[in-house]
Amino acid sequence: MKNLAIFIDSKNGLITESSKRLLDFASNWSFQNGSESIYVYGFELVSSDMLSTYSSIKQYTHIKIPDLVNHSQVITPLLEEIQQKGISQFFYVKSLLMDTIASSLANKLAIPLISNVLKVEKVSAGFHMTKSVFSGKATLTTEIKSESFLVAFSKSFSMELLSNPGNSSVGQTEITLGKDIQNKLIENHPLTGSIPLPDAAIVVGAGRGFKDPSNWGIVEDLAKELGAATACSKPVSDLNWRPHHEHVGQTGVKIAPKLYIACGISGAIQHLAGVNGSRKIVVINNDSEAPFFKHADYGIVGDVFDVLPRLLNKLKSH
Ligand SMILES: Cc1cc2nc3c(=O)[nH]c(=O)nc-3n(C[C@H](O)[C@H](O)[C@H](O)COP(=O)(O)OP(=O)(O)OC[C@H]3O[C@@H](n4cnc5c(N)ncnc54)[C@H](O)[C@@H]3O)c2cc1C
Repeated sequence: MKNLAIFIDSKNGLITESSKRLLDFASNWSFQNGSESIYVYGFELVSSDMLSTYSSIKQYTHIKIPDLVNHSQVITPLLEEIQQKGISQFFYVKSLLMDTIASSLANKLAIPLISNVLKVEKVSAGFHMTKSVFSGKATLTTEIKSESFLVAFSKSFSMELLSNPGNSSVGQTEITLGKDIQNKLIENHPLTGSIPLPDAAIVVGAGRGFKDPSNWGIVEDLAKELGAATACSKPVSDLNWRPHHEHVGQTGVKIAPKLYIACGISGAIQHLAGVNGSRKIVVINNDSEAPFFKHADYGIVGDVFDVLPRLLNKLKSH
């Protein structure tokens, strides 16, 4: 039996965009590769209606985590459930929580975990998995002969979809992890900003060109008008001008929005490593020689303190 498990992310019961793409991928994968059933796992209650538009989904399991998980024993209930269901292939989009759970699962099940994957293809001898390496500057294709594996997709993974292969009737269940928890969650600081950065369709990024944290109002106003998340370069978060979870790049969050507007950011290679999955990039910089312009779909040479207010006024007048 080749059953498939998909781990999804959701916020307030709504499935995130990257997880919806993963569900689309899984439905097609199951259709093309003859997997029997898809079991979906998530960390919130999600309605069956939202899942029934994808094909082959048998059941949604709400994984309850009463405390912080970082001890391998806590996955025992999940492991038992996976073995009962005959699941051998696992897909998820990279996140800190899932990376922790997946590495324990790979260890206990003794199967390979392939991380940062952009593309998976079935070939006669097994599977080809294409990964992003060297901070996104190159790709590496690995051949996996095993039929059992865990795949951690990069947020910017690509896929070829057939037409939707059908609908499902989805059952619901829940399991609780953490029987053997040794660590306690002491404080929980919700991230600021209403739109989580990794899932935002539009991101407004700002760099040292803004000169002072008191100048961020215009960035936030523009983001609000566009329904976008805000991001920043590393020096900006190192200077504590902005919170660290907004730092994008090689050492920060990797983003893959439909539109990235980079304002007063030079476009250093380490910054590009976190944003080069963006579908369209707009660069606003007062230096026409700024390296970012070489990677931009659209560029505006100008002062952010002049361009951003004008852009905002234009958006508000429409
Ligand atoms: C190991 C390592 C890892 C790193 N990881 C990261 C990372 O993950 N993310 C990251 O961002 N960086 C990272 N960096 C730092 C990176 O190399 C750059 O130093 C950094 O990205 C520069 O940030 P910046 O563009 O905001 O600032 P600057 O390089 O100072 O650029 C500011 C830009 O703003 C423009 N500007 C100035 N005033 C205005 C104005 N009024 N209007 C319009 N434009 C204006 C300037 O022309 C300039 O292009 C890393 C570096 C190292 C060594």
